Amino acid sequence: MQPGTLYIVATPIGNLGDLSPRALEVLSRVDVIAAEDTRHSRPLLTHFGIDRPLLAVHEHNEAQAATQLIQRLRKGESIALISDAGTPLISDPGYVLVQAARDAGINVVPVPGPSALICALSAAGLPTDRFRFEGFLPRKGPARRARLTALARDPVTLVFYESSHRIEASITDMAETLGGERRAVIARELTKTFEQFACRTLAQLPDWLAADARHLKGEFVVMVGGAAMDAETPTVDAETGRVLSLLLRELPAGRAASLAAQITGCPRRLLYARAQALAGDGH
Ligand code: SAM
Repeated sequence: MQPGTLYIVATPIGNLGDLSPRALEVLSRVDVIAAEDTRHSRPLLTHFGIDRPLLAVHEHNEAQAATQLIQRLRKGESIALISDAGTPLISDPGYVLVQAARDAGINVVPVPGPSALICALSAAGLPTDRFRFEGFLPRKGPARRARLTALARDPVTLVFYESSHRIEASITDMAETLGGERRAVIARELTKTFEQFACRTLAQLPDWLAADARHLKGEFVVMVGGAAMDAETPTVDAETGRVLSLLLRELPAGRAASLAAQITGCPRRLLYARAQALAGDGH
């Protein structure tokens, strides 16, 4: 162990066989392990025969804990940061601590390993040369649809984390705002016994979710192919935009978009995205 060093250690996202030998060595030898939830991590560490002292670093105490940990690092202690599962800082706490450590000139060493993000992308069959990781979408419908609308023209693969509580609503919103024809993949329960990849179009995924109650359980990564880049991508012309604005005065966004699509022939998806944007502007 290098003294005065902060190790950022990835832990399994399901399959305990994915803890690397190096992670095991570091976790067995540091002075203290900073864990997102000590009650959650203790059984994992016990399973591997690790009994180093644990200290909680979570989103509600991170700034305060970081100050204490930096003092300990300055005294020469070595500290490992772990989260409940996967790689710390990836939709998990740790950023405040790592930034404070960098600012204090402390040695920060990554010990890489599992992350649901890379695990899912590596086996989805969607382009991975470029991608955009969005983490969790907003929980509330209007904010979620507004975020998706902002991503609708992004040509790279989109990656989202999602929980069982919102997977159905999020997939429905994605089909509505991004376009049902896009290729998409739901990666569920990665590295666990009932790991599944559902590769469909966005429009087909709600049926897959509804087909079996088990499809709605567990942890999910959702990946969506990027927007088509061709020059033929239709846009909302001025007259169509005027029709939509008029309808929006009387109707909610979804209904206004449907009617405007029937009147003008413009794709409903584009009109819905425009309606969302106009609603955000105070219409
Ligand atoms: N830091 C973690 C990582 O590196 O993957 C992610 C932590 S984030 C709080 C938890 C989310 O990651 C879950 O809601 C789910 O979207 C995704 N996730 C974690 N483990 C997963 C698994 N085994 N299968 C599918 N998704 C998973």
